[in-house]
Amino acid sequence: TAPTSTVTFGTRFASELGELAVPWRAAETPDPRLLVLNEPLAARLGFDPEWLRSAAGVGLLTGTVVPDGATPVAQGYAGHQFGGYSPLLGDGRALLLGEVVDRDDALLDVHLKGSGRTPFARGGDGLAVVGPMLREYVISEAMHALGIPTTRSLAVVATGRPVLREQGPLPGAVLTRVAASHLRVGTFQLVRSADDRALMQRLVDHAIARHHPRAEGAVGLLDAVIAAQASLVARWMLVGFVHGVMNTDNMTISGETIDYGPCAFMEGYDPATVYSSIDTQGRYAYGNQPIVAEWNLARLAEALLPLIDDDEDAAVERAKASLGAFRAHYAKAFLGGMKEKLGLPEGLADDVALPLVQDLLEAMREERADHTTFYRKLASGTEIMPWLGDWHARWRALDPDRARMARVNPLYIPRNHLVEEALAAATGGDLVPLERLLEAVSRPFDERPGLERFTEPAPQDFGAYRTYC
Ligand code: AMP
Ligand code: MG
Ligand code: MG
Repeated sequence: TAPTSTVTFGTRFASELGELAVPWRAAETPDPRLLVLNEPLAARLGFDPEWLRSAAGVGLLTGTVVPDGATPVAQGYAGHQFGGYSPLLGDGRALLLGEVVDRDDALLDVHLKGSGRTPFARGGDGLAVVGPMLREYVISEAMHALGIPTTRSLAVVATGRPVLREQGPLPGAVLTRVAASHLRVGTFQLVRSADDRALMQRLVDHAIARHHPRAEGAVGLLDAVIAAQASLVARWMLVGFVHGVMNTDNMTISGETIDYGPCAFMEGYDPATVYSSIDTQGRYAYGNQPIVAEWNLARLAEALLPLIDDDEDAAVERAKASLGAFRAHYAKAFLGGMKEKLGLPEGLADDVALPLVQDLLEAMREERADHTTFYRKLASGTEIMPWLGDWHARWRALDPDRARMARVNPLYIPRNHLVEEALAAATGGDLVPLERLLEAVSRPFDERPGLERFTEPAPQDFGAYRTYC
């Protein structure tokens, strides 16, 4: 048998919530090759990066070598996709290997994406493609470097298996994803549909223990998830992140960003920005994200109703009171973040800060100002932006802290054209552009010489950007 690492994989999800876990094995990989390995994250989880590069390590990263004691499972969940309810989704092409205790004693899921068909695969082939898995790797690591709660990426392994997509056969890959957990709003929806009160109680207890230990009962959990998601979505808005597929199965209970499918960073500021090719109605447009989050949280509240109060009307009233807090949480997180971005004192009164922010965003929308570089240019004061009109003087009169602005406003984000360039090169076998991009976005705030092209918006001829799930 292959040597194994010293990392122990727990089976907490599988043993506490067995009804939601289908033990399963990953598909074989004809010719596995490690494309990227996140060494700092590997070390944090207790893996020896050299071991992960070995045949046994790559086997672990593709699910073909199962560590002693581990029980890989496909997780069941339901979810509203673009507003329509799907009663059974689940990991169609993914497996939870188990939970690992990291260096800081945090319990983290280690999960594979693209590891073959499972009983939840429906019509899908269970596979994933190199380009999109590297895309998830880059963007999730960029989000992490921006300080935004997110699932992380440990590695991408090319499987050597061609995957048939519309464009023709593409190289297959498995992504190893690390998360506080993979519990979603959709997990609760599945249990609610099963009408199993005891299971719902176990799910609530499991979620509280893992993510919101101070929360009391179903209402406490609901309040905690509402607060975590309000703060998360505010963080997305502050960096111009467009998730693209905010279905309830893609919204975590932990408050981490999950499922980097059609996501992208907005360049010219416009709340109507949509990148996903399948989001034809703009349901998940940049500017709609807070409303969608609130809608998704209402679905979580519905799922929890039977545990909130035995009297249904009382349960609904209580859930509404919880949901009512979302807007205030979100507004506070967003305005607080905008004050930081603009270098304004935390204590600045809302009736001064709010109109200043609103007027700025309106001017930015008219100008389609680059959402990332704008704040750095404003901080440095080296560029005259006549389109700001008297706004500039209003802002300067508040004596903004420009040095602080440079610390909170990123300079390097994964720009769409550079992501595409890096993925195309990587798919063709050249990983250098990807490594350079990762280097830039892993330290998004530190201006470094030679990285100017990472700060520039896409050239005109790049055209309108479209993303695919
Ligand atoms: P997503 O839109 O990425 O959140 O995926 C929605 C659902 O489709 C989940 O249940 C996935 O597991 C499933 N899915 C996506 N792609 C595939 C695939 N290639 N094979 C099997 N299932 C898939
Ligand atoms: Mg998903
Ligand atoms: Mg996805």
